[in-house]
Amino acid sequence: MSRQLVIASNNRHKIDEIQAILGDQYTLITMNELGYTDEIDETGDTLEANALIKAKALRKITPLPIISDDSGLEVPALQNAPGVYSARYAGPEKNNQNNMNKLLTELSGNNNRTAQFRTVLCLLLDNTTHLFEGVVSGSIVEQPRGKNGFGYDPVFQPDGFSSTFAELQPEVKNNISHRKRAVEKLSMFIQSA
Ligand code: IMP
Repeated sequence: MSRQLVIASNNRHKIDEIQAILGDQYTLITMNELGYTDEIDETGDTLEANALIKAKALRKITPLPIISDDSGLEVPALQNAPGVYSARYAGPEKNNQNNMNKLLTELSGNNNRTAQFRTVLCLLLDNTTHLFEGVVSGSIVEQPRGKNGFGYDPVFQPDGFSSTFAELQPEVKNNISHRKRAVEKLSMFIQSA
């Protein structure tokens, strides 16, 4: 019988990606399926804090194991901005195009264009938390390229590739992504637990 894990997300794309990595020994239960309809305010100032906030919000309504995540783009030349504020870098409307434009403006003329996407995944078992990190390193290109993906994909070129995330086929991106790397660590942990 498969084990149930509650996931602090209703994002179908994210849920399917995580389910595919975990395999059919685990069944992911979404917030909607639990009847949880409140918006969880991501008020933390780190990815770790936000992942914990989401997991703990759900602990109030279920005793099952919970997984939650938070991701962001970190650019060392900008003191690791946009980081935890990646979705709302250019304002609360969370506009991908405006976020990328702001990033390119902030980096204009800067020779240090290294960047990384980072995911923090939290597993809450009873009241014990376990954190897993996934990172993919790369650089910010001068002009957006490609139509696939979302967020900052058109401006992020992973190391070892001459294409941006938005130019790569989704299967290729998903196979090297920060999310995949974090979920693989979680998967190894729960298989051995
Ligand atoms: P989330 O925590 O996965 O919702 O990610 C927060 C924000 O980080 C997103 O709204 C994007 O702006 C950015 N981001 C996270 N992962 C990716 C990615 O794989 N590609 C592009 N942008 C991403």
